[in-house]
Amino acid sequence: MGSIKIAIGVAFVWLSICCGTNPAQNEAPPSPTPSKIAADRFAYPIGDGKKLTAARDSKDAWFNALDFGADNHLGEDWNKNSGGNTDCGEPVYAAANGSVAFAGDAGPGWGNVVIVTHLLPDGEKVQTLYGHLKEILRAEGEVKIREKIGTIGNANGKYLCHLHFELRESSSPMWDKAGPGYSTDRSGWLDPSDFIDARYER
Ligand SMILES: [Zn+2]
Repeated sequence: MGSIKIAIGVAFVWLSICCGTNPAQNEAPPSPTPSKIAADRFAYPIGDGKKLTAARDSKDAWFNALDFGADNHLGEDWNKNSGGNTDCGEPVYAAANGSVAFAGDAGPGWGNVVIVTHLLPDGEKVQTLYGHLKEILRAEGEVKIREKIGTIGNANGKYLCHLHFELRESSSPMWDKAGPGYSTDRSGWLDPSDFIDARYER
């Protein structure tokens, strides 16, 4: 019995030494800093990263069901050609290097949303928004182009699965926020495909 008591005593002393809290490790982490990694190129947030057209054709696996500006839409609705809910759970990728500005449930009509801020090589900033996600896989910090940040969803059952994708200028009144999704006033929003196509590199 004596040896057990000794063994327990030794273990206690060892635990006290090994696992005692180090005050330095408990200090608050530094507050997040905006991404310093320039978004020098952009890619589509779905599929294999190859350039996409809006059309539903056999060339691409994806099509844009509701274009930017159509019916006052502030984004693009990307769907799989196979239709219906066949794209539920498909990966959603960061369109460029950046840092996560918002990640969470943005309310009815939105479901899970991720917003990423991108620093352009000229010093300007833009944001990409990824709406109706099934899962959020990156909720904070820096992301790299084509890094998986979520999966395609249906906004808690409100729609057939698709990705609502927006691209905002820093003048957008909805910077860091989900926004209305549709508006007759599109100032502050850009055509996502046009923006990507102008900065696309393989
Ligand atoms: Zn949409």
